[in-house]
Amino acid sequence: MDPRSAPAQRHADPGSRQIGTIDADAYTDRVQAENAAGECFVCELADEQTTRQRETVAYRDEHCVVFIPPYPRLYGYCLLAPRRHARNVVSDFTEDDYLALQLRVHRLGRILAEITPTGRLYVFSFGSMQGVSHVHWHLAPLPPGIPFREQQLAAVGKLEYLVLAEAERKELAARTGAAMAALAEQDRHRPSRPNTGAGSSHTAEEPQP
Ligand SMILES: [Zn+2]
Repeated sequence: MDPRSAPAQRHADPGSRQIGTIDADAYTDRVQAENAAGECFVCELADEQTTRQRETVAYRDEHCVVFIPPYPRLYGYCLLAPRRHARNVVSDFTEDDYLALQLRVHRLGRILAEITPTGRLYVFSFGSMQGVSHVHWHLAPLPPGIPFREQQLAAVGKLEYLVLAEAERKELAARTGAAMAALAEQDRHRPSRPNTGAGSSHTAEEPQP
């Protein structure tokens, strides 16, 4: 299940944010229909010319695109994907390309932990050729204080998502993107590191509306 799922309903929030409930059937129907039609929303997000409104792009460079799904389970939940349409999580990458992407996963995880209180950071990839086949990594900052038996469910198992106001989503994307761009900028001022893509040119993007 992917947090891009369509909402089914909303109910009263026990905390400070509204909680939405995901319609798993609608999600499954939509992603499989898009897959069958040869559509890929990640490729659209990776291309500045075709970014869609549903997701919020936080950052792009020559290797990756980072975006906030429309129905995140946790505050700070982000996805990171290669710019090109790779389908196999390791075999579609050279070692150098893979290291360059994982450098960005590392940076994004550090940034999220600075932006939001993070007890543990979950990093995972579980794409399907029958759904969203474009390889992507989920980064889910788990807040501190969640009981152990609920921790994994809090990140991925429940059919619920946080309702983020558009302004809050844009602010999160802007902070995340600016921090990623700042780290990339530091690379410009030191010799290139082998295998990581660091030290080469990049283009950071403002979050899309
Ligand atoms: Zn794609």
